[in-house]
Amino acid sequence: MTQAVLAEHYDVIILGYGSAGANAALQASRCGARVLIIDKADKAGGNSFVSSANMTMPTDFHKKQKSDGLQFSQYLGEVSQGTTPKRVIDAYVEGLYEIPSWLEELGAEWEENKFERMWTYYIPGLTFPKLESAEDLDLRVYHIKQTDRCPAPTAGRRVWELLDSQLRREQNVTIRTGTHVRRIEREGEGSVAGVLLDNGDRISARAVIMACGGFEDDAELKRDSLGPRDIGLLGSAVNTGDNIRLAQYVGTSLWHMTAEASVLGFQPPDSKFGFGLALRHPNFIFVDKRGKRFINETRLESHRGHSDTAALDGESGKYVHDPMWLVTDAVNVETDRSLVLEVFSYQVVVKGYKWSPYSTEEIKKGWIKKADSVEELSSVTGLPQAELQQTLSGFNEATESEDDFGRRRDSMAPIKAPYYAMIVKPLLYNTQGGPRRNERAEILDPEGQPIQGLYGAGECGSIWGHSYQSSCNFAETIVFGRIAGAGAAKYASNYQTDERIPTKIPLNHS
Ligand SMILES: Cc1cc2nc3c(=O)[nH]c(=O)nc-3n(C[C@H](O)[C@H](O)[C@H](O)COP(=O)(O)OP(=O)(O)OC[C@H]3O[C@@H](n4cnc5c(N)ncnc54)[C@H](O)[C@@H]3O)c2cc1C
Repeated sequence: MTQAVLAEHYDVIILGYGSAGANAALQASRCGARVLIIDKADKAGGNSFVSSANMTMPTDFHKKQKSDGLQFSQYLGEVSQGTTPKRVIDAYVEGLYEIPSWLEELGAEWEENKFERMWTYYIPGLTFPKLESAEDLDLRVYHIKQTDRCPAPTAGRRVWELLDSQLRREQNVTIRTGTHVRRIEREGEGSVAGVLLDNGDRISARAVIMACGGFEDDAELKRDSLGPRDIGLLGSAVNTGDNIRLAQYVGTSLWHMTAEASVLGFQPPDSKFGFGLALRHPNFIFVDKRGKRFINETRLESHRGHSDTAALDGESGKYVHDPMWLVTDAVNVETDRSLVLEVFSYQVVVKGYKWSPYSTEEIKKGWIKKADSVEELSSVTGLPQAELQQTLSGFNEATESEDDFGRRRDSMAPIKAPYYAMIVKPLLYNTQGGPRRNERAEILDPEGQPIQGLYGAGECGSIWGHSYQSSCNFAETIVFGRIAGAGAAKYASNYQTDERIPTKIPLNHS
């Protein structure tokens, strides 16, 4: 057995070098701490690197007024339905208002993301417009603009590269990739002492920040927390559940283990990474294994791919809908460049997969089935022919009358032969579960007490439980990354600063 040696000492060690880790590191460094960032991947960036980094903001987010912030906080409280304490949500909303200047200082410029019109996914400002607190609440989605200073194709990579180039100039910061942390260590049951690496080395620190992502690519944790369903990946494969194992060994409480954000998309049979769908014309439906439609396809929110399609059969206990198929026609396939989104995902950004024009190669590979009749469609998909026929006729008739699933007339158009079909399934952007934290980003033990010196940020135990308002995970990496960085630095060195860094403008409740 390898003898563990005490290799080094830092004020703050940060596990994970995605956006949460990078923001935490910069904030901790700015607060005077000596920081070590450790990432197990050779190439850091995690999910953040492939993310669209859209951020849902109250419309006054550029101003320092926060008149909408209070209502946004109430709304997020209603969305969470008690799974996140109000003070944690308030800290998030307060921190949102600090994001513009924080990133602008590094060279970022903002733009509102108006989204290309697609029929597939519903991405409104407000994910839950029927909540009481949603009335008159105006939310917009912003991201960092592509500029000479930020040339990367995805906004997440733009943010990460801005932070990375700054961190590499910070004298206080050391970055180590390709290094796997096996344990976080404590002084008995007391404060954090440092980390133990896979090679047996120990690195001591006064504070440790867990920013090591989720469990998107851990089959067992996914099965236990999200159910036995086959759920694929939209993001990177580096988040393998270390967040949960490290948390359990060091004795934290866990929260939000059943919460996730996923899209309905296509995963090639030879890969675990999938693509989001891009349907630019309304000639399409989803059908399930019974050959039946089951949802208003145009209102399927783009983060509820799993939760909105996971119905169980009451008698067999099996998933009612799987496998699900996209059925469309030449209008979508032969007149449009691509059937999938080419702007984000690990497949596109890291693996560089180029979908062929008009999907010709993907049809040849058999990823997309083509059929000249319903009979042939049934034969190539294995879906029951009579049901398929009835479903297609019913949909085509409904384009002239009323849809049973509430799809608006202008969002429907007849589907005619030749037909195209592709299996679709939920693909995870990210999981939300992990170590429970409070509004100061302190990680809590099972009795609800902070573990001294241990902090958390990002999707490693994110603050989003139950339902998810779209485009809040990335902003959370910045807000809680900064709160964790400031808190850890202060804890490590008794750095004297404002109690509630980074927010200096509290939400005005009067
Ligand atoms: C395709 C895609 C698009 C998305 N778009 C949006 C969006 O538009 N808006 C939004 O709000 N959210 C979006 N998300 C979600 C959001 O981007 C992520 O939740 C967020 O970036 C997570 O950041 P993080 O820093 O917490 O984790 P990550 O960026 O995943 O970083 C975690 C890091 O921890 C490292 N790590 C893991 N275990 C260890 C260990 N034991 N030791 C050391 N290091 C370890 C990993 O290697 C990884 O680099 C998207 C996600 C995906 C996949």
